[in-house]
Amino acid sequence: MRPLTASLVRYLAIVAALGGVPCAAQPQQGSAPLVIARSGDLPLLISAPHGGTLAVPGSSPRKGEGQPKGASGYFTGRDNGVEELAQETAAEVKRITGNAPYLVVASFHRKYADCNRPPSLATEDDAARAVYMEYHDAMRRACAEMVARWGGGLVIDIHGQGSSRSTVYRGTKNGLSTATMRDRFGPGVHNGPESLIGRLAARGWTVHPEAGGREQAGFTGGYITQTYGAREMGTDAVQLEFGADFRSTPAARTAAAPILARTLAEMARIYLDAPRRAPATKSDVEPPPNRRLPPPPMQPIAAGTSALGVEWCYASAGTSSGPPRAMAGAKGQPWKSSTTSRAASSSRRAPRPA
Ligand SMILES: [Zn+2]
Repeated sequence: MRPLTASLVRYLAIVAALGGVPCAAQPQQGSAPLVIARSGDLPLLISAPHGGTLAVPGSSPRKGEGQPKGASGYFTGRDNGVEELAQETAAEVKRITGNAPYLVVASFHRKYADCNRPPSLATEDDAARAVYMEYHDAMRRACAEMVARWGGGLVIDIHGQGSSRSTVYRGTKNGLSTATMRDRFGPGVHNGPESLIGRLAARGWTVHPEAGGREQAGFTGGYITQTYGAREMGTDAVQLEFGADFRSTPAARTAAAPILARTLAEMARIYLDAPRRAPATKSDVEPPPNRRLPPPPMQPIAAGTSALGVEWCYASAGTSSGPPRAMAGAKGQPWKSSTTSRAASSSRRAPRPA
C-alpha cells in the first residue's frame, strides 16, 4: 500500500460495532466514521441511509429553501433504529450463511445529507456533499462487484416509516427496480410466495403490498432504489420501510433481524444458484450519463479483513492503492428455512417521506 497522506483522508469505514479490524487510515479529527462501507461475499447489499445521528464536521443542517417538500423532496427526519437494524441483519446473514452481505450505512444525520435524494436535493454544502458522494461511491462499487462476480445482486434499502408500526412496505416503483431479477428469474421473484415480501409474509410479518397489489404511494422507492435498481446497473433494488415494531428498540431489532436475514439469504441464494449471465460489460456497471453522480469518484485506499469481509476506506481521488483485495468464494453453505410468527395488527396513517 502506498503511504497515506493524512490530509487526504476524510472518513474512515470501520466495523467497531461488530468487532472488526479498523482500516489503516484514521479520521483526521478522531471522530467516528460517517459512512460504514463493507465488502461482502454474497450478491446482497444492505443499505441504510437515514439512521445516522452524527454531525458532519464543517457542515450545517440543511434548510431546504426553494426545494419541494414531502416524499421525494426536502425532509430531515431520522429513521430511528435502521442503522442498527442494518448492521444486526448483516451479522445474522453472516451467521446463517457463513458469508457476509455488502453493507453501506450512514452514521451521519440526514439533516446534513440525504442519500436517498438526487444530488441536486441532497446537500447544501461541500462537507455534506463529500459524505454523500462517499456513500454513493460505496454503493456503486458494491453493485459493480456483484455484477462482476455473480452477474447481478440485490440491494435492500432499509428505512423506517411512521404510518403503521407493524407493517413493512416494499418499494420498487411497482417492479421497475426489480426488472433485472424478473427477467432472469421470472415474475414470481417479485410477487408471490417466492418473492421477498412473500417470504416475509410467510414468516408472519405484515407486508404491503399483498398478493401482487400496488405499492403504497409515498413508499414506492426513492433515489437509491431507482439508481441501483436501474437496468443499466445490472442489479435489483428493493426499499423496505419498517414500522416501529421492527426497529425502535433493541428487543424489536433482535426479533426482526434474524427473520429478515434468513429471508435475504434466501434471496441471495437465488442469484447464486442461477446460471451465470454473459460477462458483465461496461454498460452493466455504469449508469447512463443522466444518472451519473457528480465526479470525482472516491478511491479505496486501504482494506482490512474483518468478521464480515473486506472493509473499504476512502480518500480523495488519486490516492488509490488498487482494488479491494480478493474475497472469499461465492457459494455459501446450505441453510434451512424457518417460520416465525409475529403479531399483525396495525392502524395505518398517511405515509411520511422515506
Ligand atoms: Zn428513510
